[in-house]
Amino acid sequence: MERVVVVGAGQSGSALVAKLRLEGYTGAVTLIGDEDEPPYQRPPLSKAYLLGELEKERLYLRPHAFYAENEIDLVTGTAVTGIDRVGRAIRTEAGDYPYDALVLTTGSRARALPDAIGGALDGVVTVRSLGDVHVMEPLFREHARVLIIGGGYIGLEAAAVAAKLGLKVTLIEQEQRILKRVAAPITSEFFRDLHVSHGVDLREAVGLERLLGEKDTVKAAVLTDGSEIEVDFVVTGIGIHPEDRLAAAAGLETDRGIVVDRFGRTSDPNIWAAGDCTVFEWRGAPTRLESVQNAIDQAEVVAKNLLGAEEPYDPKPWFWSDQFDVKLQIAGLNRGFDQVVVRPGERDGAVSHWYYGAGELVAVDAMNDPRAYMVGKRLVDAGRSPDPDQVADPDVDLKTLLRG
Ligand code: FAD
Repeated sequence: MERVVVVGAGQSGSALVAKLRLEGYTGAVTLIGDEDEPPYQRPPLSKAYLLGELEKERLYLRPHAFYAENEIDLVTGTAVTGIDRVGRAIRTEAGDYPYDALVLTTGSRARALPDAIGGALDGVVTVRSLGDVHVMEPLFREHARVLIIGGGYIGLEAAAVAAKLGLKVTLIEQEQRILKRVAAPITSEFFRDLHVSHGVDLREAVGLERLLGEKDTVKAAVLTDGSEIEVDFVVTGIGIHPEDRLAAAAGLETDRGIVVDRFGRTSDPNIWAAGDCTVFEWRGAPTRLESVQNAIDQAEVVAKNLLGAEEPYDPKPWFWSDQFDVKLQIAGLNRGFDQVVVRPGERDGAVSHWYYGAGELVAVDAMNDPRAYMVGKRLVDAGRSPDPDQVADPDVDLKTLLRG
């Protein structure tokens, strides 16, 4: 294998090319991305960077010199428009790149509000890329009225930043509760209380009917409960689409994501994929993980498998979110849980929620409780399930759970 081409210069693509070199691969490596920036981390875009507390330089995943030093041909600002699977080459406006092995790390794109309800108005923004943040930065000024659509992590993080900066924040969630897709009711409750206590006007079971504009700029929003609110701008956080269009157009198997086997191989043996864009079978169900953990770990496994390791990918999911003064850390995946055990933390306001499914510990949400996260993660990763009564008892030292 003389030439590896990686499409998508984000978290996963950059981890993959670095791992290839670390594993001793000496062939040609090209990393192509459509953004103008070298690979950078996205999590701070809705947290410290949006708040203005992190310099742009700190977003980059690797020093700029890293790519040249490791003989990685980094091509930015170049969209890949097609894959010639027979001729083994990818197409870009700047020409074709031949490959022996191709890896798709195309990530995901933010779901957009339909134009028919005002999605195309000026002042309607989303948080996916550095470019997005630079568009929204001037809008985040004190006393501005912002409507945030969607009570998932990104919407909630943007709401927290806006409230901290002194904006007047309304957040709507069309489901019965925020974080419904990803967390138990008790975790939703924790974050609802947090936001309300910081002055966010948080409305659940309320969706967007339509946005109203004047001279193409958003001015107001009509909500599904019939109310109308005036706004200066709108942030949408209504989920993502895995970016599988290139793969689908090339005839690769896709199913709301690029379908890969447990080694990271697509339906074409010369094409692999990793990160947000993939869907794979894990613990008996099709699985898509939208996290830094998955982007890096899957990419590193794929890099090894490109070199013949035949190592299956067995994710050990973890995730985090920062909102106001709360750091949420999540270990595991709470799929299929039927019981949640609450454990008060040692510090004031610290608490953790332990998810069990059929008696098995599957995940832990730890709020300002790094010890609970650390112990919970070790237990979940090892497939061990402590007695829920012991977990709930603050007099039982967490460390004894590890011994049990
Ligand atoms: P990406 O990092 O999105 O990279 C994909 C790249 O491919 C992009 O640059 C894209 O433009 C490019 N691309 C796509 N198609 C083409 C094409 N045809 N040609 C060329 N280039 C192409 N995860 C956490 O674990 N914790 C968090 O707290 C957290 N917070 C987040 C906050 C925000 C605001 C966002 C947006 C995401 C957050 N995530 C978080 C998720 C995490 O950032 C993603 O899971 C991760 O970036 C996925 O990595 P990836 O490489 O698969 O995709």
